[in-house]
Amino acid sequence: MGATILNNDITYLNGVGEKKARILQEEFNIKTFDDLLNYYPYRYVDKSKFYRISEVPANINTYIQIKGVITDKQIIGENRARRLVAKLQDNTGVIHLTWFNNIKYFNEIVQINTSYVVFGKPTLFNTTINITHPEISTEEKSTSSQVPFLPMYNSSDKAKRTGLDSRGISKLCYNLLSLCKQQIPETIPLYIQQKLQLIDRASALQYIHFPRSAKDIEQATRRLKFEEVFFMQLIMQRLQQMSQRSNGYMMPKVGENFNTFYHHHLAFALTNAQKKVIKEIRSDFLSGKQMNRLLQGDVGSGKTITALLVMLLAIDNGYQCCLMAPTEILAQQHYFNIRKMLGDMDINVQLLTGSTKLSERKIILSDTQKGKTNILIGTHALCEDNVLFKHLGLVVIDEQHRFGVEQRAKLWRKSLIPPHVLVMTATPIPRTLAMTLYGDLDVSVIDELPKGRKPIQTMHFYRSQSNTINQFLRKEIAAGRQVYVVFPLIQESEKLTLSNLMDGYERFKQSYPEPQYHVSCLHGKMSGEEKDAEMQKFKEGKIDILLATTVIEVGIDVSNATIMVIENAERFGLSQLHQLRGRVGRGNEQSYCLLLTDAALSQDAKIRIKAMVDTNDGFEIANVDLKLRGPGEIAGTRQSGMINFKLLNIAADERIISTARDISRSILQDDPTLSRPENAPLKIGVALAQKNSNNYFQIG
Ligand code: ADP
Ligand code: MG
Repeated sequence: MGATILNNDITYLNGVGEKKARILQEEFNIKTFDDLLNYYPYRYVDKSKFYRISEVPANINTYIQIKGVITDKQIIGENRARRLVAKLQDNTGVIHLTWFNNIKYFNEIVQINTSYVVFGKPTLFNTTINITHPEISTEEKSTSSQVPFLPMYNSSDKAKRTGLDSRGISKLCYNLLSLCKQQIPETIPLYIQQKLQLIDRASALQYIHFPRSAKDIEQATRRLKFEEVFFMQLIMQRLQQMSQRSNGYMMPKVGENFNTFYHHHLAFALTNAQKKVIKEIRSDFLSGKQMNRLLQGDVGSGKTITALLVMLLAIDNGYQCCLMAPTEILAQQHYFNIRKMLGDMDINVQLLTGSTKLSERKIILSDTQKGKTNILIGTHALCEDNVLFKHLGLVVIDEQHRFGVEQRAKLWRKSLIPPHVLVMTATPIPRTLAMTLYGDLDVSVIDELPKGRKPIQTMHFYRSQSNTINQFLRKEIAAGRQVYVVFPLIQESEKLTLSNLMDGYERFKQSYPEPQYHVSCLHGKMSGEEKDAEMQKFKEGKIDILLATTVIEVGIDVSNATIMVIENAERFGLSQLHQLRGRVGRGNEQSYCLLLTDAALSQDAKIRIKAMVDTNDGFEIANVDLKLRGPGEIAGTRQSGMINFKLLNIAADERIISTARDISRSILQDDPTLSRPENAPLKIGVALAQKNSNNYFQIG
């Protein structure tokens, strides 16, 4: 049987019926045993630690454990507010415990003058700290039966209703590991494990789900983090080895298209940074080697126009180009912008996405194959096998983090010699890190904004200041401007996210009534078409205020939208705030970013907000972000960076990343095909990485 038991359908696991299987798949994309094994807790609660009541932090959104004596209890309130409230006391203070459900039961369980161990999430209610529906047990019981670290798994409302809350998921993991721990394949050869002092894979997976100690968590995390980045490096470096052996197209000519555009169509002077990047690419085109270049530049720095100029160079040399964007709406936007910029020039630009009609698609595919299409713009539909070019010379990929290495490789294969590749990203990361993450990609940076751009003014408001905020928005709308309002995704619950957004929508509609104002809303329950339609109306200026969750994060370009309001800004990561801010400030009008927060802010949140208010510089922001995300919680919080690692934090784990890069280099030097017997586990690892990292190595 070997490793194959891990490929079993999740329905074969004890405790998983048809319904749970469906929920696991729909909510968490868990289809097989292996998928569940790779669904790690997002953090652990240290059950060996007890808080003294005077030290209990309120609203920290985390679970804690307290020892105390119940001194009083009462059933109070009517109807839905009817509840049991007990007072728990230690020698430093008192907190309240509240139960709304099963009041009768808990009223019997909870005895006055008895010691208990209480476990739950504290919140501040009026002036007292309160824990609603805590776990509670008498002291003797609790010490004998507790695991030291309780794993916490992300769940969703829907999953919770079928018993798949964190605890339910943990139970399934227990069943799974009891069944197949012996059959977890090793992916890292023993000699590397020893060299790096990594624990074996089966133990790592056991401990990530069921740690016995903090050390278990540390070792499991280190091993699994290493694995995440190591196999990515190994795959990437192998691909690069192949491409480096191959030559690249020579594109020496600066021809009519480039010159016409540069001298007659460009409405502005290029910035020095843009010129520098074009020079760098020109020298790649003259080198006879394939270009693999990462183009970094802050949002709005003018990457797209730079890419267009480079595409014109390729066309002048007789080659076709394609431009790939991560979403349909962005592909469309590029298509319309580029056509508009080219005006009456004789360049054939076409758009191919998932929703291109069949009849149209046929024409586009045939034009592309015949070489009639000069620039083909699209989504990852461009990677499909039936998209054939006559002579593809240059591939431009916008917003890299949505695409993986494998996708790039697929595009390379569409050409006799691999085409030149230019990857554009607006996620500023320090150069060293970029090189590690993108292998040996060359890096170009546009580190200068176009002249005359007014820096975006960023302001911080507390929610209580809504009058000031509304006055400000009304004034700007009266001047013809448009407003984005972004709401956070609430990690534990899509329902909360939606209701948060909907509450906001009601609020805004009341403050900004029709017919004077037009308020609209984009959310996850809408179809792609509905979203596009709303977006289109916004572009046409028919909507004054557009509310959304982070769907507008990437690349939408509406230059008349000059105000970005971010609700609960404290819930966003720094680089995400910066990305969102980049949606405004694209025209000549003064733009603003309003960060709204609750009154109580964590230390980190304060630093993030301050950084946003203080600077518009993406690299400075990135550096603050790197520092903040250093030693986080015990185990990985969800990664919100450019590549979705499960555990690895690209900000904090630079050491692991560079070790992985070096080890993978030296292995490939000695054994380029990984065929030595001692390297056999690596092949399993490569296959697993390709299967599991759905975001990076596969087509999304
Ligand atoms: P990015 O892709 O880097 O976010 P874009 O290429 O979309 O940026 O450029 C943002 C806006 O700035 C576009 O409207 C573009 O026409 C304009 N722009 C680009 N380069 C310049 C420049 N050198 N001078 C003035 N405006 C520019
Ligand atoms: Mg862009």
